[in-house]
Amino acid sequence: MPDAVKIALVGIGKIALDQHVPAIHASPDWQLAATVSRKGSVADVPAFTDFDRFLDQHPEVSVVSLCLPPVPRFAYAKTALMANRHVMLEKPPGATLAEVHALQAIAADRGLTLYATWHSRMAHAVAPAKAWLQGRTVTRAHITWREDVRKWHPGQDWVFEPGGMGVFDPGINALSILTEILPAPVHLTAATLTFPENRQTPIAAALTFSDNVTADFDWRQTGPQTWDIEVATDTGHLALRTGGNVLEIDGEPATGEASIMGEYPALYARMADLVRSGTSEVDLTPMIHVADAMTLGRRVVTDAFHF
Ligand code: NAP
Repeated sequence: MPDAVKIALVGIGKIALDQHVPAIHASPDWQLAATVSRKGSVADVPAFTDFDRFLDQHPEVSVVSLCLPPVPRFAYAKTALMANRHVMLEKPPGATLAEVHALQAIAADRGLTLYATWHSRMAHAVAPAKAWLQGRTVTRAHITWREDVRKWHPGQDWVFEPGGMGVFDPGINALSILTEILPAPVHLTAATLTFPENRQTPIAAALTFSDNVTADFDWRQTGPQTWDIEVATDTGHLALRTGGNVLEIDGEPATGEASIMGEYPALYARMADLVRSGTSEVDLTPMIHVADAMTLGRRVVTDAFHF
């Protein structure tokens, strides 16, 4: 692969190993040239534990993909940009909105690519859902995003620490889809956030937006998991199920121009396009809704949570 661009992966944990490494290995656009992680590594890839040392020793690696949790990610992102590397961010793009604005300013100043990824927007049925909704009037929409935190984040206490976002860590995926497919923007008007008595972030959230849009996020669902978005319009009803991968129109399966790429291969293809064209992509809309929910939310306290 003579034209493959060298990329380094930082924060070798669950999502790096589950998704990023296979997507990079399978892509002709990329060569995984190094990893940077305090403990994690990838077979047959040079592994660093110190980010500055990696940057010093590998000036030819022009792109860095950051798979760390949101709180520690900013320092790595800023350091990478200051070292003139293009940067790809896992979702959510930061612990705060302001720190992502700061990264945008540095990237723009230096002519570098900054890509704030939203993997759920790349789910198979999101683009056809967006196309179907274009030109229709939405009369109501509801998100049901209920999953088992013990299954998807085993032992990851950072999700319950400040900046970890709690149930908004998966919920922001739903919001990334909603904000992609709705033909007109909505804004949050009320929220009820349920906090375990021993934790800093919510385990459940009920959100109300303008224009009859509501959302129900819950991390306590065992058994079958639910990642559904239902949208009623003046001319029919759309349902996106299984995290944006299955589309139904008026209760019947529909396909449309469904994406054939997986979510992470599609993210890396997009990053390759952005680097080639010298542009950035940073849409903070999903995170604005989360920040607004944290600002406006009514607090309810529930039972202690232990992994
Ligand atoms: P994780 O496994 O808990 O963390 C990833 C790695 O980051 C860890 O293995 C650790 O590697 C490093 N790290 C953690 N805290 C650090 C710190 N304070 N300083 C430096 N390095 C640190 O998390 P994850 O599940 O992969 O999630 C990472 C990001 O991906 C999150 O933003 C999450 O929302 C997103 N995401 C996760 C999933 C999922 O299914 N888990 C799906 C989609 C997106 P070392 O100990 O080796 O340094």
